[in-house]
Amino acid sequence: MAYSVTKLDDYSPAALDAAVRDLLSAVTQEAGAVIGENDSKLFRDRWMARKNGILTQINDLWLKAAPGPAKREVGARVNQLKTEVERAVDAAQQRISNSASKSRFDSERLDITLPGIRRPLGAEHPVLRTMNEIVQVFRAMGYSVAEGPEIETDYLNFEALNFPPNHPARDTQDTIFVAGQERKPQRDRLLLRTHTSPVQIRAMMATPPPIRVVVPGKVHRADTADATHSPIFHQVEGLAVDSNITFSDLKGTLDHAMKAFFGSNVKTRFFPSFFPFTEPSADVSVTCFKCGGKGCRLCKMSGWIELLGCGMVDPNVFQFVKSNGYDSRKISGFAFGMGVERIAMLKYGIDDIQLFYQGDVRFLEQFA
Ligand SMILES: [Zn+2]
Repeated sequence: MAYSVTKLDDYSPAALDAAVRDLLSAVTQEAGAVIGENDSKLFRDRWMARKNGILTQINDLWLKAAPGPAKREVGARVNQLKTEVERAVDAAQQRISNSASKSRFDSERLDITLPGIRRPLGAEHPVLRTMNEIVQVFRAMGYSVAEGPEIETDYLNFEALNFPPNHPARDTQDTIFVAGQERKPQRDRLLLRTHTSPVQIRAMMATPPPIRVVVPGKVHRADTADATHSPIFHQVEGLAVDSNITFSDLKGTLDHAMKAFFGSNVKTRFFPSFFPFTEPSADVSVTCFKCGGKGCRLCKMSGWIELLGCGMVDPNVFQFVKSNGYDSRKISGFAFGMGVERIAMLKYGIDDIQLFYQGDVRFLEQFA
């Protein structure tokens, strides 16, 4: 039965002590039954609420109702009870909040002996890896590296590279032009570069001869994506200009580069070709690095794989940078270019160029 305050009939010290004992035993017992935040609040209200808490009741029913001579004895005991009850209420509350924080601590406890979460290490993308490897071959031969913007002017992408004004490569089927430039003169119109060659012009505009520069980068064409075409791909081009540079230097350089890249058994072969910016021009094939030249599916049984284009820089191109010392009567040079994806596909035996761009980890982790 819950404790309730009753009026006192007997104000003798012995009777007062007995009433105090009953009350203290009740508060102790109730304090022990408090097991949660809610209990603790109810317990505090029951005993200490200003309006009708038990302490208020004993103040009214015991002290105020006491006859004059007994007030002193009653007052002393009521004060003592207040202190005891407050202590019991505080202690109960403390116990509850300790156990709440302990259980939170237990639930949030870190087990430092558990193994951690292992983050997989990233790896170079096969296209960038191939591009860096090609660049490295030329760096080792003393070439410096140049890069340029992907948005270029028609002038740098075509005109300064000796493309005549109505060359079909400008056709929007091949070249992606920035929209809304019809009022501009053609040479000022902006486009997504279709090759890294404009960087060769930029390099010659910035540096007088001699120059040896290799140009890696991303290029864009309005091609439909399929197993061998992508509207975005990567190239590495190179340019060497000096006095007395001959086609033999070009052959020797590319032969060395292909051996450095594919292995010393590889042979190179040059076929006549055409590019607007080189004269004469050549396509370069290497002996198939799968069958060694015997003939297999990769090389379509020919024993050779066509890998890059090259040639002697057309004197017309030097005209555009003549003011920076490129006088075609005194200097000559060669240029070459290759598609990075094509080389990576051949090197790693990949039959679909789209695999490079799909971001499928199952494909990419093979190169990690
Ligand atoms: Zn082969």
